[in-house]
Amino acid sequence: MGLFDRVFRGSAEMYAKAEAELTAAISELGESAPMKMPDTAYFLSCIYAFLGKKVTTLGELRDALAEIQSKMTTNQRLKDVFTSGIGTAMAAEVIEATKYARTPTPYDGTDYHGHFSDAEVRELGVPLVTRDIPGFVVIIDPAPTDEEAVALIKGYQARGIFVFLIGGVIDQALRGGISMGFPVRVVPVGPDIWAVGHIISLVERAAMIFGAVTPGDWEAFTEYSFHRIFAFVNAFSPVSDITVACGGGAIAMGFPVITNDKDDMWAVPKSLIIQPDTTDFIETSLEARDIKIKVTNIDIPVAFSTAFEGEIIRKKDMRVDINGARQDCFELVRSRATQDVEDHKIILDGPDIDKFPEGGAMNLAVIVDVYGKNMQSDFEPVFERKFHSFLNCVEGIMHTGQRDIIRIRVSNAAFEAGFRAKHFGEVLYSKIKSEYEAVVDKCQVTIVTDAAKLKELRAEANIAYDKRDMRLQSMTDETVEVFYNCILCQSFSPSHVCIVTPERLGLCGAVSWLDAKATNELDPNGPCQVVTKKRPIDERTGAFEDVNEAVQKYSHGALEQVTLYSILEDPMTSCGCFECICGIEPASNGVSIVNREHTGITPLGMTFSEMASMTGGGVQTPGFMGHGKHFIASKKFLKAEGGIARIVWMPKALKDTVRDRLNKTAKELYGIDDFVDMIADEEVAEDAEALLEFLAEKGHPVLAMEPLF
Ligand code: SF4
Ligand code: ZN
Repeated sequence: MGLFDRVFRGSAEMYAKAEAELTAAISELGESAPMKMPDTAYFLSCIYAFLGKKVTTLGELRDALAEIQSKMTTNQRLKDVFTSGIGTAMAAEVIEATKYARTPTPYDGTDYHGHFSDAEVRELGVPLVTRDIPGFVVIIDPAPTDEEAVALIKGYQARGIFVFLIGGVIDQALRGGISMGFPVRVVPVGPDIWAVGHIISLVERAAMIFGAVTPGDWEAFTEYSFHRIFAFVNAFSPVSDITVACGGGAIAMGFPVITNDKDDMWAVPKSLIIQPDTTDFIETSLEARDIKIKVTNIDIPVAFSTAFEGEIIRKKDMRVDINGARQDCFELVRSRATQDVEDHKIILDGPDIDKFPEGGAMNLAVIVDVYGKNMQSDFEPVFERKFHSFLNCVEGIMHTGQRDIIRIRVSNAAFEAGFRAKHFGEVLYSKIKSEYEAVVDKCQVTIVTDAAKLKELRAEANIAYDKRDMRLQSMTDETVEVFYNCILCQSFSPSHVCIVTPERLGLCGAVSWLDAKATNELDPNGPCQVVTKKRPIDERTGAFEDVNEAVQKYSHGALEQVTLYSILEDPMTSCGCFECICGIEPASNGVSIVNREHTGITPLGMTFSEMASMTGGGVQTPGFMGHGKHFIASKKFLKAEGGIARIVWMPKALKDTVRDRLNKTAKELYGIDDFVDMIADEEVAEDAEALLEFLAEKGHPVLAMEPLF
């Protein structure tokens, strides 16, 4: 039987299963039963994306399924293979959705992940943009042996590729002791082939969130995934018809399928590739999807990969605990004169890890001295902030915090593999030299573990931090000569441009003015360019002719003008990876802010996901704006609308994060003490009525402000 027939037979099979499941669900729950996938503002996203239909009940799902069937044509043309393939993906979504119609948590208590939340889709956004995650693979069905499965998964992990698993390969991974979960980037999606519905849903939401693709515009979706999502499929032999049909959908979206099924009748160049040797799967796959991987060779006894960034090391698994809150620990980058730096010298001053009690506390300071002709002291904090991700990429090391509030755990396994204190130095040396080669000529690392010396060294480090903070604080949008743009996110949001200023960092929270400046100097043709600010138009809103010109240029004409300080008048666009979103709360004339981690409802009657779905994709949406956490305490936040006094609601956790800085700004701007206590949170108000009551009780300054409209 030819390939086309197998696709058509497989899609008919998927449709029949969807129809049976849906009929059963309707007879059990009724047509008007609500149909909602958890934690998403995009309905059943495959159906929403490809058909433009917002399914909210089982009855509507049945209508959608009829339309899906109409796409599963079988006229033997290649186009039918593609539409039937995508129809198969939608039918898979229907099957999975019926599980969620019965309970919002059908996979609780199993090894499977199931549906992805919008927050997870967004979480993938930044690393995909920065290419920390160079792509993702969907592995379907068991490999010929457990060993091959484990080797394949680990091989992808080591290259930073995000791994989704479906079917029997999950049992193989479990037997092989692979730790799985969203944070470690190996996700067991579901036991059956229809779990692909969850992955396609994730892809389509990325297109809506980051690419502002219009629901219903079928071709725009396949176009987006083809050009911007670096995914591919590995399917093990014997490949069933239904998997072949899903493969048709994958290929339609631009994702090649690599298999060891020897049925050579169905090889399609660049799209459906037969690779009989599973040890060559990785290479064949990366080549087929044109993914190039940058490897840094680091001389350490454990693996180094972004796959380990989310790894958690529990108390019982740790060899030592380095805790800046209890001992004198810190990290510091210093720029030094050439004679003070010997390249690749790593000094250990004090006892090594094995001299500290098992499972006990250890003190540690890491001092990185760099010399470079083009090095500037402004780059020190930029490098230092990267320690977190550099060290987290080490298998068996968990790192949080920065400066003298670091917390590092070294696992027993890493210790037994031979990991010692000097290896911190090896990692930092290699990464700093490779990432910052344009400005770092020489780099030397000193690791101090001698408690007697640390107290004094820590005090010295604190003097350095304070000096930097003073410089940062004295830096305002008025005192600097230039701003920078950032277009890193254009690989996902083709028309999005961030303008980064000292008082307004990029909305992802990861790019401050100093970062942008460093990026510009490290890579003059890179994503951050100088934006002058010589021709102001309106100081109140932060409008500049030069900024508008830059925005026009870098958005390729999609944007005419932006302001830096307004949410209502030409606000800056959002890509999709913002840390927070603020939105006008009409009843109080204020704004509510919600951070990505908060899953509950806001007084606007919307969750983060729902508010976020109002903006994004590089489009201006007055009244809603994505922004970084640190922008909240800025004197420029909502300046055109009266400033931070407009903030009426934030989740409690976010309030705690920004409390000190926000209180300080409120004191300076309005002379108000403890302003954060006047802002409502989820504990006192989740609707407008309770919010107004709370604001009145606290005498919140917004009540005396001009109406927003
Ligand atoms: Fe993306 Fe803006 Fe962050 Fe740059 S600053 S990475 S464009 S969100
Ligand atoms: Zn972004």
